[in-house]
Amino acid sequence: MSATTVTTPQELATANPLDDARAQLRAAVELLGYDEGTYAMLATPRREVTVGIPLRRDDGSQEVFVGHRVQHNFSRGPAKGGVRFSEHVDLDEVRALAMWMTWKCALLDVPYGGAKGGVRIDPRRYSPSELERVTRRYTSEILPVIGPDKDIPAPDIGTDERTMAWMMDTYSVSCGYTVPGVVTGKPIALGGSRGRASSTSRGVVHIALAAMESRGLTPARTSAAVQGFGKVGRGVARFLADAGVRVRAVSDVHGAIVADEGIDIPALEAHVDATGSVVGFSGAETLEESLLELDVDVLVPAAVEGVLTAENAPRVKARIVVEGANGPTSPEADMILEANDVLVVPDILANAGGVVVSYFEWAQANQTYWWSEAEVERRLAERMLTTWEQVNSYAGTRRLSLRSAAMAMAVERVVTAHGLRGLYP
Ligand code: GLU
Repeated sequence: MSATTVTTPQELATANPLDDARAQLRAAVELLGYDEGTYAMLATPRREVTVGIPLRRDDGSQEVFVGHRVQHNFSRGPAKGGVRFSEHVDLDEVRALAMWMTWKCALLDVPYGGAKGGVRIDPRRYSPSELERVTRRYTSEILPVIGPDKDIPAPDIGTDERTMAWMMDTYSVSCGYTVPGVVTGKPIALGGSRGRASSTSRGVVHIALAAMESRGLTPARTSAAVQGFGKVGRGVARFLADAGVRVRAVSDVHGAIVADEGIDIPALEAHVDATGSVVGFSGAETLEESLLELDVDVLVPAAVEGVLTAENAPRVKARIVVEGANGPTSPEADMILEANDVLVVPDILANAGGVVVSYFEWAQANQTYWWSEAEVERRLAERMLTTWEQVNSYAGTRRLSLRSAAMAMAVERVVTAHGLRGLYP
């Protein structure tokens, strides 16, 4: 590991993500000419559950964690969204992430509302059996509000297919029969979908390539930097490199590396598998400046929310920002980037591949009929690129940024569904 002090994305992200999410909603509501009551309805989650999760540690001592499940909206179907295990989880963050899920599902036209869960725990500090106990207790605490027709959790930061297997098992044991449709992002052996693990990254790269084309950039002449080397960033780096893009820099929570001629991503993946970090990879140098401000064509923030701010946005040199993370750009940063003619492809479009294939997984599980990987990939690409075209044409005819267009399209769909159903009682 390098001795250099690094600023992690989470340290940069100081603002409250819920303020950002609500500011984006406010702008969409104003654009669409809706009233204050509509804003208030959409700014307020439908249901929030906060639970205490006691854990008996392997050494016999006890600890208690706080967990949340926020269901932001059900107008278009059951709530849907990941579960995050991180020491930075708080209720406002989960509320923001749940709201973004509502817009993402509406924009991609998957028949869900939005939800998110989180447990404030650093999963790296606990053994697999401790994490299993935390996951099962959290699941049993939120059990009354989840289910294949109610709210369907999935992986997010700090959770994975193993976490989903424990959640599905805990839920199924309580029902007395196996319910594969209660979570998505499960192992394939338990009814997970082929192509789900790589789907968010694949979707980001479909959109990045389309954005590059719209700006006249060919992969062979394009350079990129990727912030984050987890479930999203790692696949993004690999698929960009496969497409011929020169991936100049990548980072993780431990540090950032750069190679001007392009990083050999398969070799870096082997290094990360062996050491747990991108730091110390022999095929690159330590990056001393901020990865977000590097002179590249395409920047993919694929770590956490709130990393592009009014402070650093003026120094972004990339021509295209593709949001692999949820909420990486503050509204102030958005305005600065737009004024500087940086094309920002918003999270609710760019990183929607995960929930799109979650929907495919849920549909397959509910029908107990499994699709081939090629079928999943074909449908994912088709849905991402169709939505890209729709957002571009909405933005083009109304002279809007891609974020304003995507948000307006999504909010309008939710309000239409809400209007058709009516307000009860
Ligand atoms: N956690 C992912 C996201 O933020 C996936 C959610 C899901 O598949 O439900 O989009």
